[in-house]
Amino acid sequence: MTITIQRTTSPKAKPESESALGFGKIFTDHMFIMDYSTEKGWYDPRIVPYGPLLLDPSTTVLHYGQTIFEGLKAYRTVDDEILLFRPEKNMERINVSNERLCIPPIDVDFGVAALKEFVGVERDWVPSSEGTSLYLRPFIIATDPFLGVHPSHTYQFIIIASPSGQYYPEGVNPVKIWVENKYVRAVKGGIGCSKTAGNYAASLKAQQEAQDAKYTQVLWLDGVERKNIEEVGTMNVFFVIGGEVITPALQGSILPGITRMSVIELLRSQGMTVTERVISIQEVYDAHKAGRLDEAFGTGTAAVISPIGELNWGGDKIVINGNQTGKIAQETYNTITGLQSGRLADTFGWTTKV
Ligand SMILES: *Cc1c(COP(=O)(O)O)cnc(C)c1O
Repeated sequence: MTITIQRTTSPKAKPESESALGFGKIFTDHMFIMDYSTEKGWYDPRIVPYGPLLLDPSTTVLHYGQTIFEGLKAYRTVDDEILLFRPEKNMERINVSNERLCIPPIDVDFGVAALKEFVGVERDWVPSSEGTSLYLRPFIIATDPFLGVHPSHTYQFIIIASPSGQYYPEGVNPVKIWVENKYVRAVKGGIGCSKTAGNYAASLKAQQEAQDAKYTQVLWLDGVERKNIEEVGTMNVFFVIGGEVITPALQGSILPGITRMSVIELLRSQGMTVTERVISIQEVYDAHKAGRLDEAFGTGTAAVISPIGELNWGGDKIVINGNQTGKIAQETYNTITGLQSGRLADTFGWTTKV
């Protein structure tokens, strides 16, 4: 399939300062769209001027949430090249999400080609200061104009892009986390392992209550016993206990993060022991009491690594590593951002040039 390109005749002014970009606030001049119908499959891939979508008020996605999304970034290197970080993993994960949501699969290679073509058109929008990037948001929506709960027959696959600033302007700093006892994000057999809108709608209330209590994010426990650790906000989570790195095993309710996968592969390549297993919140508190909880941190595309400085579980507060960024968190952050920005040689083959 060839991608047609219709360039805008009224390009937007680029942001004046890269230091005030923030996250997800401004969008580039174009968007990528392709359509799906049962008869034609995926068809008419095109890059067109960025603008509102025209949807019938009965459109399936608006009522029943049949939709999935992805998030990844394009980085500008000091040599003025544009790099994507493991984009094939995002396209593979789209199909994992699609399968659960009864959305037809996309071709992974075509998805990566579409990303590259689109980023190529928006090349001038990729910022260059340290820590900045062009955030890419591929997503699929069910577009049948029909009220009734069944899978749509038509879809749109869209990619939009937003130049984004450094997630933490002052560098990597520990955050305070609320251990969530009341609400749950996902259960085994549900949609927790898919990147789909409903998971985030389900999380808003807990996040709001945590923020009212002056906590940055929530730590999600399993939906049945509220005992085992699942994720932190919209990130995967790691604990370092007595030198061993532990992250909850993926068992259906946890989103399989690409940063998580990369951190596991990176630490193992450095000879560290990384264990994917069930870990309870009690085990973390016991380790802290025994002086063996060295570090805790979240992982995700947006912040890469987010150290956890404090946990509050039903009023029982613990401070981790003196509320300082730990050695493993800091070194992992440096290495992954170094690979992404081309400052470090990519011996893993994780980056792709646009
Ligand atoms: C996207 C996401 C992550 C992190 O995935 P990355 O691929 O590392 O960005 C973790 N948890 C949830 C719930 C997410 O939506």
